[in-house]
Amino acid sequence: MNEMVSHTYIEVAVALPVYNLFTYGVPENFLAFIATGKRVLLPFGQRVVTGYILGPSKKVAEKEIKCILDVLDERPLFPPSMIPFFKWIADYYKHPIGDVIKNALPGGLTLYDFASIAISEKSRQALCHDSVTPVEKKILEHLGSGPCRLQDLSKQLKQSIPAALIQSLQRRGRITVTRRLSGGKTKSITQRNVALTKPDLLTDGLSKARQKIIEILRTEGETPVKTLKSLVPSAPTLIRSLENDGYVTICHKRVYRDPFGEPISPEAGPVLTGEQQTVISTVSQYLHKGFATFLLEGVTGSGKTEVYLQVAADAINKGHSVLVLVPEIALITQMERHFRARFGECVAVLHSGLSAGERYDQWSRIVHKKANITIGARSAIFAPFENIGIIIVDEEHDASYKQESSLRYNARDLAVVRAKLNDCVALLGSATPSLQSYYNVQRKKFIKLNLKKRIEKRPLPEINVVDLRQNRDARGIRRFITSELHQAMKETLARGEQVLLFLNRRGFASFPICASCGQAIRCKHCDISLTLHKKANAYRCHYCGFSRSSSSRCTICGSSNIKQLGVGTEKVESAIAGLFPEADVARMDRDTTTRKGSILALLKGLKNRTIDILVGTQMVAKGHDFPYITLVGIICADLSLSFPDFRAGERTFQLLAQVAGRAGRGDVPGRVILQTFNPEHFSILAAKQQDVNAFYGQEINFRKALNYPPISRMIQLKISGKDKNKTEAHARSLGDLCYGLKTNNSSSYQGLEIMGPIEASLPRIAQHYRWQLLLKSLNTKVLHDFIGRLLAENMASFTSRNVKVVIDVDPYFMM
Ligand code: ADP
Ligand code: ZN
Ligand code: ZN
Repeated sequence: MNEMVSHTYIEVAVALPVYNLFTYGVPENFLAFIATGKRVLLPFGQRVVTGYILGPSKKVAEKEIKCILDVLDERPLFPPSMIPFFKWIADYYKHPIGDVIKNALPGGLTLYDFASIAISEKSRQALCHDSVTPVEKKILEHLGSGPCRLQDLSKQLKQSIPAALIQSLQRRGRITVTRRLSGGKTKSITQRNVALTKPDLLTDGLSKARQKIIEILRTEGETPVKTLKSLVPSAPTLIRSLENDGYVTICHKRVYRDPFGEPISPEAGPVLTGEQQTVISTVSQYLHKGFATFLLEGVTGSGKTEVYLQVAADAINKGHSVLVLVPEIALITQMERHFRARFGECVAVLHSGLSAGERYDQWSRIVHKKANITIGARSAIFAPFENIGIIIVDEEHDASYKQESSLRYNARDLAVVRAKLNDCVALLGSATPSLQSYYNVQRKKFIKLNLKKRIEKRPLPEINVVDLRQNRDARGIRRFITSELHQAMKETLARGEQVLLFLNRRGFASFPICASCGQAIRCKHCDISLTLHKKANAYRCHYCGFSRSSSSRCTICGSSNIKQLGVGTEKVESAIAGLFPEADVARMDRDTTTRKGSILALLKGLKNRTIDILVGTQMVAKGHDFPYITLVGIICADLSLSFPDFRAGERTFQLLAQVAGRAGRGDVPGRVILQTFNPEHFSILAAKQQDVNAFYGQEINFRKALNYPPISRMIQLKISGKDKNKTEAHARSLGDLCYGLKTNNSSSYQGLEIMGPIEASLPRIAQHYRWQLLLKSLNTKVLHDFIGRLLAENMASFTSRNVKVVIDVDPYFMM
């Protein structure tokens, strides 16, 4: 079982931002415990850190090779077959391999050491009469009240403390520095279970309570002590004596924290439509025959989920496992219900809404083969399966597959990569595919599948475009609730049906402005307008989270006369409640769904029709299936069009077509009122026609003309720092390095374009000034070769102490 027992040298990735792999020795007493995929504790420089075993090392014995200090896991956290995947990611996204693995694993597993400093005995005695500088005295006095973490010292003293000073104090014996371990808090939990020793025990002469316990165990079988206690309060003491007397045995069982809500009753699938059958049999022909990627373009309400369920069943029946990616937590619930109803307990879920412990448990269920289906958000692409049959990516166009921090990957792209490495099938589905996938079909990289009709031949909703320019003179909220929309809402509610109102901006007023001096109320860290959140009595910054009381005055002139311009979901909600006092109005956006279970409650309200009108941001646009929504109102279609981003048109089209697709999914046909200031814009016209091909036909020409992705590939260098001038200077010198590298190797990098450095469209976020540099090429290899070389040749100066440079490969958020 353990392929590594005899290896004295192992290859490890350390959970630190370093690009290399390292060789460590294994002391004899650990030999039996090492295995690929386990964590080890190891010395690294002056520190002790977590590492991941990637296999035996081919290095020959050298004297200076260090040894591991401990093996942290009883069983591996990931199978060896995932290592090529990790390596691919590290290479493609130019990210340190150890950090790739750390990002992939459920959080809370990494042990780090930190330096703790304390005052020495010598200092304690000599404090008042010795030659120390005032700063040193301050440090020693501070430590007099107890040891502290080195990294916290500067903060606590409100003064920067150079490392040299600490070293000097340590050398002079004034302080002691010790290293301690922290982190790694997530552990498995166990539960005490009780079972009868024999089924046919005689219970005569036992007390009533004891008899009752035995009775329960006889009918229920092995039972947790906790359950017994709820039935017989004295059970915890009684079972001990029952155990002594030989009636029962007590054992400890590993339990998995259950993230699921209520039980789900099993369901059989419906009779498939002809289109569904064709799609399913096409995919099934490819299953277990190697790598293939399908793009399933299915109009909203065409029954894509059923296709997923059927091909998943096929893969499971052939002994493979299934990975299903869904863009948002709200949609996981829906997908999970379908899969659990069909497949029962073998479903695991992975997403950021779970606690660290829950995630760890779900992860363990996969590793220990208790689950062979995983449903999750983007991070579920790392689910530790060994023999995947199919990877399904629902709503593949969705922007939330792109991670925008730390390891900046795109889970949709990784799904295809992992399928290729695992020789299995990837199935990407959407009503509005990404232009990139659409292009991959054109280039014969993906195989196209279609579901052109809605289930039961339901018609697609009729879309009426309302020109908001004609409504300019209306006052207050009437500017945004046009008479057409108002009328349609009245009719829908009168029929007892539901209304969905969509606006891609949360909060109450997104553009508060001082009526006295005319200045916008801005975030003090971001140079961006704050948004009023009335319920929270606060102005909030949507970029850095900065918050100010809603009663604050203008920071420029001190006036308290602030005009609340701009509209957000909160304003729409309160206006609607005023217009329709009888209706039950609810709101779904990031503000109303922070609490655990709140999304589920809203979805339940829609399902049980206790909500008549739901107002929401893009959260409501995605994938939900509610049969009684017959009217969708798009309050203002233009918000996403005006973004300075080459994908603005694509995103707008997708968003509008998706929201429209929420209408008329039941027996009653649906209707959409689309309000816009740009009724002639081609993204809006295409959304009105619900014509995906018309849109892509035009959009691809525009991308070709400017050499934008998917025609080309890009890498963005995101440069940021707190000091305005230093950030700009660093951006410029990085730019010079790029141009230099290109000029000196003009034959290799001919087709490579360097754009910038320029100040970012959002020039300051969270006190950081932002610059960017864009690299673009029609040839992926050239692009990656360039950035690899740039990085290798300038490793030391790439990121400086004051300015951070992040490499964003295939960037999505360009501002
Ligand atoms: P999509 O994801 O393509 O928008 P869904 O998968 O949500 O569509 O399916 C729409 C509705 O049709 C769901 O309520 C689903 O249960 C139902 N459905 C799917 N396939 C069938 C079928 N073959 N017969 C009847 N109803 C179906
Ligand atoms: Zn003012
Ligand atoms: Zn801010």
